Amino acid sequence: MSTIRLLPEALISQIAAGEVVERPASVVKELLENSLDAGATDIGVALAEGGIKQIRVVDNGAGIASDDLAMAFARHATSKIASLDDLEQVRSLGFRGEALASIASVARVKLASRAAGAARASAIGAEGGSIGTAEPAAQPEGTAVEVNDLYYNTPARRKFLKSETTEFGHCEEVFTRTVLSRPDVAFTLRHNGRVAARIAPGDPAKRVEAALGEEFARSMRPVAADGGVLKLSGFVGSPAYTRATRDAQYVYVNGRFVRDKLLAHALREAYRDVLHGERHPAYVLFLEIDPRGVDVNVHPAKIEIRFRDPRAVHQFVFHAVAKSLSASAAEAPAAIATPAVEGHSITPQFRQAGLGLAQPVAKYAAMFAERPPGAALAPAPAKDGAAGAPLGYALAQLHGIYLLAQNSEGLVLVDMHAAHERILYEKLKSALDSRAMNTQKLLIPATFHADRVDVATAEEHGSTLNLLGFDVAAISPFALAVRAVPAMLAEADASVLARALLRDIREYGASRVLTERRDELLGNIACHGAVRAHRALTIPEMNALLREMEETERSGQCNHGRPTWFQMSLADLDKLFMRGR
Ligand code: ADP
Ligand code: MG
Repeated sequence: MSTIRLLPEALISQIAAGEVVERPASVVKELLENSLDAGATDIGVALAEGGIKQIRVVDNGAGIASDDLAMAFARHATSKIASLDDLEQVRSLGFRGEALASIASVARVKLASRAAGAARASAIGAEGGSIGTAEPAAQPEGTAVEVNDLYYNTPARRKFLKSETTEFGHCEEVFTRTVLSRPDVAFTLRHNGRVAARIAPGDPAKRVEAALGEEFARSMRPVAADGGVLKLSGFVGSPAYTRATRDAQYVYVNGRFVRDKLLAHALREAYRDVLHGERHPAYVLFLEIDPRGVDVNVHPAKIEIRFRDPRAVHQFVFHAVAKSLSASAAEAPAAIATPAVEGHSITPQFRQAGLGLAQPVAKYAAMFAERPPGAALAPAPAKDGAAGAPLGYALAQLHGIYLLAQNSEGLVLVDMHAAHERILYEKLKSALDSRAMNTQKLLIPATFHADRVDVATAEEHGSTLNLLGFDVAAISPFALAVRAVPAMLAEADASVLARALLRDIREYGASRVLTERRDELLGNIACHGAVRAHRALTIPEMNALLREMEETERSGQCNHGRPTWFQMSLADLDKLFMRGR
């Protein structure tokens, strides 16, 4: 007797279903895709028990002719493509013709539909892979799909399902992805009879706010890049808005939500200069590309893709996002018009701090009422002079932490340390890139105790240290002397800098310190080298800092993603004092 035999049709379907229908959320995804492909403008999703008990998706799309109802459940049956050529330029979300077949093989499904313009509707049932016959039914134009008792016939799979709450969470995530992808469509989500979300059609920014919340919406910056064959649009969260997880990163390619390593990498790189540490950025981005330039048929779940020219896509996305993030201090506030909030108009820089409005108002109101003793007053610069310098001219230093300046719009507040840190970082980067790190010999070398490993590291990696502008020599088996530092760091504590450097080299190795770890290391050095709070600066020193900020890219954010300065316009101040009311 032969040992190789064909599997029964029902088992084949169940095996295939495993790839498409992993959990209730995958059913929700496939049904939503079908509704969007049918041109629906209003889609309702209703779940019971996290979708395990029931998933119902109702749309007002084009519907299915009653003669076609049974065919919709057939495996590899689709109305969306007919040839290889179609597949290569597919624009619909579905095209494999296997979602309904897969779902029907592991659940009890009812499909009711009325095609646009048809006199009546029909319904059909399918259960465990056997398809019933179409019968007349009551149903407005559009389609309703009901999926009951998922995995009722495959108990092993059913066991893998998590709690109702977890499964609902996954369904909600699929819902959010879909909602973000189509601002023009109305969506409703119900769970166990309660409305969980009701989202009206709106513009893309409104939709992002509805789906991801007001805080993100306030921080985000628009992205709009047109590279001819490639287009990128959407929103990126400012570096001041970060999250502990990657949960708010949405990327779409031709309207399809994707998980793609290449795109994720391009975005990580774009944020690298403004975001350090363990935090993750948030973004909603839509890449449009000629369908021939991307293969969506990589996996049955259609969430993975392959680009024909990955390098071009990477570069395009990286530059578009980096550009939007690096709007320099001089441009940022003027470029973005901000709507009034609760009667006050506040600049984007203000909003990025994530502070409530009441807080800064109270804070700055108190500041002017008291005029603290630490504030040394300088003569106000000529008015026309302030117009030429976007960040204006220094007035005073506040409590050794903030610099106050006057520009043509009003008051500028600068976090001295954060701003200086950003400037040093950018300068260190370009000096290292052009191998032109100016060093300064220390008149009196800074010596410090070190362990044997540090001493050995300093000796072994002298050339790396030199490249970074440092000269560190062993003066005993337990002591090191810093004899030179980068000129721009001449005023910093040389031994603190050297220790930080040696720690990095020990931990990551000299070559990684100069490559993948480079920006982090330079950020670290810049932080140590930047003016400490409570250091008194003279007015010319402050003005020099302001001028350097204007020249430095990305000076609106410090290396840790915090904002470095705020603009308070005269109008803002007038409001504080209720002038002109
Ligand atoms: P695919 O989406 O890959 O074509 P499916 O199994 O998901 O495969 O659906 C099979 C067919 O059923 C679709 O090609 C479409 O013609 C029809 N269909 C499914 N859902 C809907 C819907 N909500 N509205 C209109 N037609 C639908
Ligand atoms: Mg489909």
